[in-house]
Amino acid sequence: METVRFEELNVRPEILRAVVEMGFEEATPIQAKAIPVIMDGDDIVGQAQTGTGKTAAFGIPILSKIDPKLKKTQSLILCPTRELAIQVAEEIRKLSKFLHGIKVLPIYGGQEITKQIRSLKGGIQIIVGTPGRVMDHMRRKTIRLDHIKMVALDEADEMLNMGFRDEIESILSEISEERQTILFSATMPQAIMDITKNYQKNAKVVKVVRKELTVANIDQYYYEVRPKNKLEVLCRLLDMYNPRLSVIFCNTKRQVDELVSSLQGRGYFADGIHGDLKQQQRDRVMGSFRTGKIEILVATDVAARGIDVDDVDAVFNYDIPQDEEYYVHRIGRTGRAGRVGKAFSFVVGKEVYKLKDIQRYCKTKIKAKPIPSMDDVMATKLDKIFEDLDEYIKSVNLNDYIDLVNEYVDEKDYTALELAAAFVKMKMEENLGTDSFDMDRELDDADQTGATEPGMVRLFINIGKNHKASPKDILGAIAGESGIPGKLVGTIDMFDKYTFVEVPREVAKDVLHGMKNVKIKGKNIHVEIANKK
Ligand code: ADP
Ligand code: MG
Repeated sequence: METVRFEELNVRPEILRAVVEMGFEEATPIQAKAIPVIMDGDDIVGQAQTGTGKTAAFGIPILSKIDPKLKKTQSLILCPTRELAIQVAEEIRKLSKFLHGIKVLPIYGGQEITKQIRSLKGGIQIIVGTPGRVMDHMRRKTIRLDHIKMVALDEADEMLNMGFRDEIESILSEISEERQTILFSATMPQAIMDITKNYQKNAKVVKVVRKELTVANIDQYYYEVRPKNKLEVLCRLLDMYNPRLSVIFCNTKRQVDELVSSLQGRGYFADGIHGDLKQQQRDRVMGSFRTGKIEILVATDVAARGIDVDDVDAVFNYDIPQDEEYYVHRIGRTGRAGRVGKAFSFVVGKEVYKLKDIQRYCKTKIKAKPIPSMDDVMATKLDKIFEDLDEYIKSVNLNDYIDLVNEYVDEKDYTALELAAAFVKMKMEENLGTDSFDMDRELDDADQTGATEPGMVRLFINIGKNHKASPKDILGAIAGESGIPGKLVGTIDMFDKYTFVEVPREVAKDVLHGMKNVKIKGKNIHVEIANKK
């Protein structure tokens, strides 16, 4: 797609100046297509994914059409959440920085209504609000609709999902039909088409097709993991790639809470957002993330939807998303504005098939990667330590310390080299957990037993067909003697003189223990961990 500069879009010079200051080099595809339509005064239905710059796509033309001298509400923008209302108002304020006399106000539930009423008296031309609170003000007559000439519905599908349909319809029916109606939505379900039909006039449809989506700019990898190793793998990746800001997606609120406390426990600057948190808590977390006080944001899809977080270096799908479209929404948080982002997805067992659907849907390639070994992590950490040292040595005067080290080495009977090595080792060990080593050993072990299924260990039992034993006897003995449910037992390969059986790694010890001094078909048996052929 050819690039479009804002200058070509007939944007007012004051707005151009702001756009430059905001660091936008060229219009995004949805902006290039939508701005001229809205400038022409036409109704519009715009469809594009998260992170494609929809706010400016409607914000710029709305600002161009506001009369700064008229101190009445001229435009109403509806957003699904408080968080979004604040963000949109903020972006529009930035765009209007050099336009004098334009006031933008976000209004939302949860904020004291009397305070909002006071602010609304100050001649606000652009109101950005959540449907519920806007209705509330309309009833109290603290928002007047008579001068509104532009209405925008941002994230319209999400507003409907949140049950705001009635509110939206009442608001739209109370605003003069002379208005221009702008609707943006990431998806186009029937309910959106209904709104379009009933409340818009000859709306022009503007879509940005998928191949223009930002996922092209994102390196996408997946890792096959076991549920209990997810945390460890995540930490290794965080340590190796050392992203400045990352977002980690989980499918449930509980998982978000659990992961946040595990990460915090390991000393990462992490916090989470999900639907159960009070708005105030979410705002606090988002604030810390934007300022970099938190480097890792853990979120559910719903909580993260539409939240604008800039400069995310990596997105992790801790749980693979339920829906292909979520994948696009999630990873669209990285690789913005021309930079290359990274997306890491964890898959457990059969989930690997979901990746196929996702790849087809997004027309993208997600590459398999081996879980980085502890050695990989160490190597990267070492590089980093030496890099830091290099820089440090160049930037400071070490003379006093060289004397100190000299004295110390004289006193003890080891060399300066040993002392240096000890320091580097100490530095390395500072933040390496022991779990890491356990997982490596485990991964190695699993390899060595030759188990065919992930997460299983292969055991050898010295009884086979010649002893008139059947797989059912083996299954029964294992379940009976070690007390594990029979369904946990995996593949049983029976040969003439011996049998291989796979059991989950977690219970392997119990099985080995329980099967001591046990008889099958009258024969004393012996069980041990199998060796790979
Ligand atoms: P959407 O509403 O489509 O999810 P936003 O409007 O929130 O996207 O924009 C996402 C981010 O991209 C914001 O930080 C915004 O400032 C930035 N952005 C918008 N337009 C451009 C552009 N033309 N060039 C670079 N960055 C942009
Ligand atoms: Mg948006």
